[in-house]
Amino acid sequence: MVDIRSQYQRLKPEIDAGIAEVLDSSVFIKGPALKAFRDELAAYLSVPYVMPCANGTDALQIALMALKLQPGDEVITSNFTFISTVEVLVLLGLKPVLADVDPLTFNIDPEKLKQAITPRTRAIVPVHLFGQPADMYQIQKIAGEHGLFIIEDNAQSLGSVYTGPDGTSAMTGTIGNIGTTSFFPTKPLACYGDGGALFTTDPHLAEIIEMIINHGAKVKYHHEMIGVNSRLDTIQAAILRVNLRNLDDFIERRRTVAEYYHKRLGSNPAIRIPQVASFGTHVYHQYTILLDPKIRDSVRKQLKEKGIPSMVYYPVPLSIQKAFAFAGYHEGDFPVTEHLCKSVLSLPIHTEMDVEQLDTICSTLLNIINHE
Ligand SMILES: *Cc1c(COP(=O)(O)O)cnc(C)c1O
Repeated sequence: MVDIRSQYQRLKPEIDAGIAEVLDSSVFIKGPALKAFRDELAAYLSVPYVMPCANGTDALQIALMALKLQPGDEVITSNFTFISTVEVLVLLGLKPVLADVDPLTFNIDPEKLKQAITPRTRAIVPVHLFGQPADMYQIQKIAGEHGLFIIEDNAQSLGSVYTGPDGTSAMTGTIGNIGTTSFFPTKPLACYGDGGALFTTDPHLAEIIEMIINHGAKVKYHHEMIGVNSRLDTIQAAILRVNLRNLDDFIERRRTVAEYYHKRLGSNPAIRIPQVASFGTHVYHQYTILLDPKIRDSVRKQLKEKGIPSMVYYPVPLSIQKAFAFAGYHEGDFPVTEHLCKSVLSLPIHTEMDVEQLDTICSTLLNIINHE
């Protein structure tokens, strides 16, 4: 699905030099590379405050802690996403409320979001899924009307741009009160281990987040609040500096792959290729097609037999995960998410793909589908 090794081989001199510099300095916590990365990412995103942390799940937890949400407060998020958001909500004693998604973009459906609001709702966590933004204008409008915080989960879409109806553009993750991301090795901006970050334009929130990340202390050993230990390693920051310099090139390479897939697969009536919302740009963290649920698993199996990897992100809606049974949702509550879980198939997409590989994948896939 991804080829991290080839990407490393291509960037080896830069990456190795970055790591060697940290080893030479032997400053493994904080240190100059961390500060440089933070400043460079802030400049890339045009956001004043970037706070690196240990991973994307921590970033979500720290964001919720910084907004001082109280046990029992309700937070609305998408039913079609990775488990992290719901996990940290439950750990903090908050109540996750799920909303169904838009069938074209797979992102939270603003109408469904509106219907999920109750007097206890305090925040919304839109997820920019697979590489493109959620409908931030509608989400901000709803948040404004009901006095809700917005935390953008941008783990999959760093580098994508959202343009509002008034024509102003912003990078995803910099629009809500707080944005979070993950630098897990397969994400658009990746390190060689775990990493994450939070973004905000609010100096007060930035200060609180910084404190929470550092055990609730501004001054060492003087703890003003309960925090966590969640740091980005300096070695990872050095790797991230190289990958950030290459991020626009990575995105271009992924878009080239997506264009190839569009051309080869787009005219087949059995395949629905990814749809890009008019208000956003797509960074193609995933290239996810929809197939008839009757053939999806069989197609995947045949691809595997021919040596072609594919993945189902995500096979089970959060609403019917065993770990979440206490929430009391049932099959049938979220028709769009449930249908997507039975229809989606993500094809290999990464920065190192060549036309030969793409041709093999497309020919094989089309051949299988034409025989189904
Ligand atoms: C990867 C991911 C996370 C979690 O990031 P980690 O760094 O693995 O903790 C959260 N949300 C979404 C949407 C993700 O894709």
